[in-house]
Amino acid sequence: MVNEKMRGLGACRSVIRELFEYGKKRKAEIGAENVFDFSIGNPSVPSPEAVNETLVGLLRERDAVSLHGYTSAQGDVGVRRAIADYVASTHGATVDPDLIYLTVGAAASLTVSLTALLEAGDEVILLAPFFPEYRVFVERTGAVAVPVLCNTKTFQPDFEALRAAITKKTRAIIVNSPNNPTGAVLTRESIEGIAKVLEEASAANGAPIYLIADEPYRELVYGDVEVPYLPHFYRNTLVCYSFSKSLSLPGERIGYILVSPQADDAVAVYQAVCGAGRALGFVCAPALFQYMIPSVLGMTSDISIYDRNRRLLYDALTEYGYEAVKPDGAFYLFVKALEEDANAFCERAKQYELLLVPSDSFGCPGYVRISYCVTTEQIQKSLPAFKRLAESYQAEK
Ligand code: PLP
Repeated sequence: MVNEKMRGLGACRSVIRELFEYGKKRKAEIGAENVFDFSIGNPSVPSPEAVNETLVGLLRERDAVSLHGYTSAQGDVGVRRAIADYVASTHGATVDPDLIYLTVGAAASLTVSLTALLEAGDEVILLAPFFPEYRVFVERTGAVAVPVLCNTKTFQPDFEALRAAITKKTRAIIVNSPNNPTGAVLTRESIEGIAKVLEEASAANGAPIYLIADEPYRELVYGDVEVPYLPHFYRNTLVCYSFSKSLSLPGERIGYILVSPQADDAVAVYQAVCGAGRALGFVCAPALFQYMIPSVLGMTSDISIYDRNRRLLYDALTEYGYEAVKPDGAFYLFVKALEEDANAFCERAKQYELLLVPSDSFGCPGYVRISYCVTTEQIQKSLPAFKRLAESYQAEK
């Protein structure tokens, strides 16, 4: 006998992973250059040179036994201090290294934070569309995921819908900006609005509703778009950060949780984070990558390539008649499907060798997500296929 819920999760892959696997098979059949795979958010731009230089330097210069040894469960104290100093100076914030917990990426930051905060039966609000794994992470704790759809004209939050979704059982909300799958970046007004709703609801509930800020795309913004620091607006905030996307290191699994020192009972929240890390076996994130962090804080891969892809794709697709909100960040374009059923639309797109992710599992049916962290050449080559796909619908009218 096994845990049936876990077996179900393992037996059926996510829609994104399913498509990614299909893409691998199709590429073997007709050649990788003939498949336009926009399925997965795997960065396509190399890490900054400083990443490898730092790693090589550590391997050459540091004592191998201590380099590869266990760090403190919550992460090396020198690394936590470096992160605290960097975040404090970048955002003019108060940050306590003893409220930072190193993790194996944003996925672990989220599961640890949710496990720290939730009891079975609690409710967690997910602003939709959302990263589909949120539902898996929330439900594993025995809590209930409550999707709240954003305004689909802007993909900014709908405050009335948010207010209406909060109950006495609401314990947390997950906010993701820049957003996967829309590329939207929460504006200052949106954050102030969310904070106001949460303050009022926390007061009415007599217990804080925590804001979990999932921020693996924080630095991936284009033009002069601002990504406000959420703890400035709402004190009961946990920031879940990851270096996966900013430094193109998703396979190395490194990130952190930062509990705002202003949070009510910040120390208790942090103790619960440490306890959740322990219970889940997520102690001592990879030591080599922890020690890399102080040398590369604030760096990013060359995101001008994503910006070029973004403009090329958005301009061409809207010219062909597709509808989309221009993304300000991350590396996703969220496009309205050309028929009501996004799954049927994606099946038709496959006939043109376009691999697009249908949006149902993002909690916002009727759209597709296009990951444009691919080569610019792939985008250029795919444009005629997007055009013919649109024409196939226009011909039916
Ligand atoms: N959160 C969001 C919104 C993501 O898009 C992803 C990965 O694509 C994650 C979390 C997980 O990131 P990590 O690879 O750092 O675990």
